[in-house]
Amino acid sequence: MKVIVLGCGFGGVEVASELSELSELRKRSKELDIFMVDRGTRLEYYAAHPEILSEKVTPEEISGDLNKFASRINVEFINKAVVNIDFEAKKVKTEDEGGEIPYDFLIISIGAEQTFFGIPGAEELSHSVNSLKGAIETKKALDRLDYSKKISIAVIGAGLTGVEVAGELVDYFRDRASAKIYLVEMMPRILPAFPTENIATYVSKFLSDRSVEILTGTAVQEVSEQELTFKDGSKLPYDIIIWTAGIKPNGLLEKLDIPKVKGWLKVDPYLRVEGMKNVFAVGDTVYFENEGVRSGQNVEEAERQAKVAAENIIRTIKNLSFKKKALPKKYYSLYTMKEEKLRRYRPKNTVQNPRAFISLGDDKAVMYFGGIMFKAFAYRIKKFVERRYRRRFG
Ligand SMILES: Cc1cc2nc3c(=O)[nH]c(=O)nc-3n(C[C@H](O)[C@H](O)[C@H](O)COP(=O)(O)OP(=O)(O)OC[C@H]3O[C@@H](n4cnc5c(N)ncnc54)[C@H](O)[C@@H]3O)c2cc1C
Repeated sequence: MKVIVLGCGFGGVEVASELSELSELRKRSKELDIFMVDRGTRLEYYAAHPEILSEKVTPEEISGDLNKFASRINVEFINKAVVNIDFEAKKVKTEDEGGEIPYDFLIISIGAEQTFFGIPGAEELSHSVNSLKGAIETKKALDRLDYSKKISIAVIGAGLTGVEVAGELVDYFRDRASAKIYLVEMMPRILPAFPTENIATYVSKFLSDRSVEILTGTAVQEVSEQELTFKDGSKLPYDIIIWTAGIKPNGLLEKLDIPKVKGWLKVDPYLRVEGMKNVFAVGDTVYFENEGVRSGQNVEEAERQAKVAAENIIRTIKNLSFKKKALPKKYYSLYTMKEEKLRRYRPKNTVQNPRAFISLGDDKAVMYFGGIMFKAFAYRIKKFVERRYRRRFG
């Protein structure tokens, strides 16, 4: 059986290592050839990208070599971008002329993409920290600024990443120059994805005390070379814009004629793409909702989904081999009893009840869990989690 893990971010890496471990444990490794496919060569630890700006981390520290990782877990890594999938022929098509990789089982874990909501000038004129390359280029752009004049930086979108970027910018400018940092949010308060106001109130005060100007209820309408225009007609001159607002489904999904919700992949409770038995999906690319509770798009859920999908692939393979044995009729009920049920996925870090660490600069962070905000040790715990994850790639 050939299993392709398409996309090797947090979800894909976890599926591959879990599959490899489970197949060893259940002595099925000879039956399973696992391939990890990604257009990039490194896993990027996104949560630490804002700290590239303040030089608290280096690009090498916060990214890991996928090839080395794959060989450590006895999996093959293929560095190619996938441009389409033929579900009938069971083949993924790669960017190279005529390139295709056949599969028996496929896991789609291609993540999400940044969106600029079609706002004129936004994509062309903004910087970003959503990729490591983007974060490095943003840092270089900061270094190139003319410090003889007053600098104005606009961070667009005050979700988790926007808040973290504003905090790291404060640290970047601390010993350098006078700079005005604006944090712009179209919703009435910052951190709108967090259901209680306590966290927004605390973080707003923390950043305002460090001279970040927070503009809430302020939607960007247009971006030109020198200034931002807001929906109410007001303007803000800027030197650098850092765009941290919004994600959209990976462009590859548009080409795939399979069930989707608002462009995201629709999966069943076992994380199979709806209506398919051999195609699973995990991570940001997935839309999963059960009884009004929607899974969050975050590392925790990508990894939890990965574990369930890997287990379900192993169980499906086992069930297939039962069927192949074609037992005499009298044993049918016995073999049905032995057939393993697939595991259901139940989200914990949800849209309705999110949990996260948010760093604020100045080596401080907050942790949000069950509607409660924790401050003590939050930064240290966040860094501990980061170091522990990075060790897998060390
Ligand atoms: C700046 C930033 C900060 C964040 N901070 C946090 C945080 O603090 N906590 C948290 O929980 N979450 C955070 N997130 C969100 C978190 O990183 C995502 O939820 C997580 O990465 C989802 O994992 P994934 O495997 O679905 O996608 P990803 O990790 O994005 O991986 C997708 C992979 O697919 C590959 N790929 C995509 N298309 C193709 C293709 N056509 N062919 C081949 N390969 C392809 C990509 O190269 C990538 O390696 C942050 C995200 C960003 C951008």
